[in-house]
Amino acid sequence: MVKLDTIISLAKRRGFVFQSSEIYGGLNGFWDYGPLGVELLNNYKQAWWREMTYRDNIVGVDAAIIMHPKTWVASGHVAQFSDPMIDNKTSKARYRADNLIEEHIFKLKNKNKTDIANQIEERLSKVEKNEDYYQIIIDFQIPDPVSGTTDWTEVRNFNLMFKTFVGPVEDESGTVFLRPESAQGIFVNFKNVMDSARLKPPFGIAQIGKAFRNEINTKNFLFRTREFEQMEMQYFIKPGTEKEWFEYWKEQRWNWYVNLGMDEKKMRWKLHDKLAHYANYAVDIEFEFPFGFGEIEGIHSRTNFDLNSHQSHSGKKMEYVDTVNQDRYVPYVIETSGGASRGFMAFLINSYNEEKIVEDGKEDTRVVMRFHPKLAPITLAVFPLVNKDGMPEYAHQIYKDMQKFFPTQYDTSGAIGRRYRRQDEIGTPFCVTVDGQTLQDHTVTIRERDSMLQDRIPVSKIREYIFDKIEK
Ligand code: ATP
Repeated sequence: MVKLDTIISLAKRRGFVFQSSEIYGGLNGFWDYGPLGVELLNNYKQAWWREMTYRDNIVGVDAAIIMHPKTWVASGHVAQFSDPMIDNKTSKARYRADNLIEEHIFKLKNKNKTDIANQIEERLSKVEKNEDYYQIIIDFQIPDPVSGTTDWTEVRNFNLMFKTFVGPVEDESGTVFLRPESAQGIFVNFKNVMDSARLKPPFGIAQIGKAFRNEINTKNFLFRTREFEQMEMQYFIKPGTEKEWFEYWKEQRWNWYVNLGMDEKKMRWKLHDKLAHYANYAVDIEFEFPFGFGEIEGIHSRTNFDLNSHQSHSGKKMEYVDTVNQDRYVPYVIETSGGASRGFMAFLINSYNEEKIVEDGKEDTRVVMRFHPKLAPITLAVFPLVNKDGMPEYAHQIYKDMQKFFPTQYDTSGAIGRRYRRQDEIGTPFCVTVDGQTLQDHTVTIRERDSMLQDRIPVSKIREYIFDKIEK
């Protein structure tokens, strides 16, 4: 398994992800996407958007990040969106109590101390209140990873919503929150969308957008950040049909990751032992990160908790009225909620490979990012074999032509092998080389990243050749 540091340094070196405001020492829990990162992220979101909305009965919205503060009272976030927090008195370090315990379990398992790890896991699955976390930490003498001591404060609740103010006066009446999930922007627009798009259940509303959580601990690169992006779809259905739609969306979402090239051996289901206040079924799709399995997407059956709650807080009806069957109901909801930034990171890890190779008769080592061609930030690189005899001009023209269809790079510097290596490292699926023969018969070699096999094809067929492979 690749080390997280290797991914972070490649991400920085090649311009995928930088620490936010790095020149000022960075800001914990915030990251910036560089030139290649933004392409990969956009491709990832685009793949999701096409999958979810280019089908019957699902439409999109893009709601404001700041919403009426009553939204968060109705959704339960003001009262309940908190994490259990614990402080170590020696180091003054602050932790999410459940994460502290989980990381301890992970360490024990790595040391083959499975018996004790299982005992802690068993206790963790039964936690109901903050004191239960505290008792586990004390009973198993879980030490602070920084100071190694076990002098802990009690476990308290910490609300994760970022507060700010609307208007010039900073007082309670103007207090608003940065949305901690994009889902509520969908729920409050349920009637607007259903009526304007003339939809009836089952139908879905999809949204991609930023969410903000003042996480107690941010670490593991993009896994847990304070600003992140979600890709969420709420599917509105007739009450009583939730089990079948839940199963349907589980399968759809799992397959989406697999079809984009995620290694199924690194994926697993996690059933929720404890359900959120709104859910009646819930599972997560987990991916194996270098620090253990972690959620990349949740599929939840949310009943009609949210719509009911908005109905009573706003006084506005949130019903579907079926005039044909004389039926009316507040729909149930199946939610698919994935993190764009977490998924992005999972694909960085999933794609990373280091291999010993022989290419053009020479031995070499290469780092290759095996992104699905739909995700790869650069689709094509074009090279002249040598920088003379009209080859650069010819290659540059191909580059200009192909740029109209997909992100393309042009590279003339260094030996051809080095140019391939540079493209392998950023996951470019195709490289075209213009050589002596090109000038005579207008054919080029096109090399495929994973197999390293080269085809010779007419210049006029490059675009078609690539489109064919991308769609596979
Ligand atoms: P966790 O238990 O890890 O805090 P959660 O169960 O609260 O996550 P959800 O509210 O279900 O997460 O959010 C849906 C998705 O949003 C998650 O699957 C994840 O991909 C993403 N996500 C949630 N919190 C963060 C975060 N702090 N940073 C990056 N992505 C996040």
